[in-house]
Amino acid sequence: MPELRGTTKGPVLTRWFGTDNLHTLDVYEKLGGYGAMRKALTTMNPDQIVQEVKDSGLRGRGGADFSTGVKWSLMPKESALPMHLVVNADESEPGSAKDRYLMENSPHMLLEGIGIAAFAIRSHQAWIYIRGEYDGPYERLVTAIGEMKKKGYIGPKPFGADWPLDVRIFRGHGAYICGEEGALLESLEGKRAQPRAWKPPYPAQKGVWNRPTTVNNVETISTVPWIIENGGAAYAKLGTEKSHGTRMFTVSGHVQRPGNYEMEIGKTYRDLIEGLAGGALPGHTIKAWWPGGSSSPVMPGDLLDTTTDLDGVKNVANLKSHPQPPLNMGGRAFATMGGSGGVIVMDESFCMVKAAHRLLQFYAHESCGKCTPCRVGGNWAVRAYERILSGEGGTEDLGILDRIQDGLQAGRCLCGLGDAAGWVIASTLTHYRSEYEEHALHNVCSAEMAAVNATSPLAGRTNA
Ligand code: SF4
Repeated sequence: MPELRGTTKGPVLTRWFGTDNLHTLDVYEKLGGYGAMRKALTTMNPDQIVQEVKDSGLRGRGGADFSTGVKWSLMPKESALPMHLVVNADESEPGSAKDRYLMENSPHMLLEGIGIAAFAIRSHQAWIYIRGEYDGPYERLVTAIGEMKKKGYIGPKPFGADWPLDVRIFRGHGAYICGEEGALLESLEGKRAQPRAWKPPYPAQKGVWNRPTTVNNVETISTVPWIIENGGAAYAKLGTEKSHGTRMFTVSGHVQRPGNYEMEIGKTYRDLIEGLAGGALPGHTIKAWWPGGSSSPVMPGDLLDTTTDLDGVKNVANLKSHPQPPLNMGGRAFATMGGSGGVIVMDESFCMVKAAHRLLQFYAHESCGKCTPCRVGGNWAVRAYERILSGEGGTEDLGILDRIQDGLQAGRCLCGLGDAAGWVIASTLTHYRSEYEEHALHNVCSAEMAAVNATSPLAGRTNA
């Protein structure tokens, strides 16, 4: 992935970005930081905080898109067992680096959000489950927690409130599956990271160590201080009628300014990719883009006017001009999804069959092996891609891929990794079938030829 250089300031999460030493408690507090936590702990009760977050319309930014306020309200008001807040900082989705960016630049924003969220769900123990490779954010968080303890913001009486708080960091060991909620909780318990078969009781009743637990993403929790400071109604004014607020996006791939950007929900992917990220590289055109990390179905380059709200990605499913792959998304008519906000862009010089092959290698490698379609299907797909790309494949391999993608979807796998692998095959086969056929039938790669032509000294000349 190229260096990520997000530079713009958004209205919520990145409003103080660019300030020298924002990662220190002194600077963060001088700008107004910890005002929201003080307000929450000294003037509000947990139910009022939950209501404010419900009013804001904030939804989980890790990909699940579930109402944060509703999730918090599912926690018991009284429990004989300790209750836990777990922050999912295991950002492993290919194409997504926005949580890293938030934690590195403003660790206290996350920690302030943790203080408020833990109080709202009546928990005294918070965990940050951080991706093992994230050395920079980890070090920043360790230092920031030390600064908070010194000030008494973590400890027996934060801001004088009779409500002890402890925050601990747990480093993951680099498996993609640890980002899945159940696998993350298993890993936190010291077990092998495999997803849980979620059925009642859910984590709010029986989560980590069988105790009531709420799991939230870094960006979600980092948004909470702004909501408490400005009110849920103010946050709800941002975005669209159904999708409120702002979102962080990571834009990577063939664009002029790859980086992390905060943008109001409801603007289009064209605003993001061609506006903030500068658009395609000179002389190239955008062929494909993934809106929410590689786990979201790919979209063709001429659909950049899709809006970033729920309705936007939903409406694409009804476009007659672009037949959509047969995706099973919990019965909802979505063609793709905003997912983790990791936007990957590819221009005409990159072969979509090779892209799909590389992604299937990733998903096959990261499969935890618990269910057969994912454990076996991923590797079968990789072998089919290898035959197609080496010129030894045929149309029967396209049929094999089609059957594998069907087997990976429709609830046949326990977690989203199986679906994601299936969607890579289904969406690239639907939108770029001609590239598959060129490889399988004629051993030709038009993307490679386009790349060679673009760099040829004769590029741009015509036979007049
Ligand atoms: Fe494991 Fe794959 Fe099944 Fe998920 S879908 S539980 S990663 S085998």
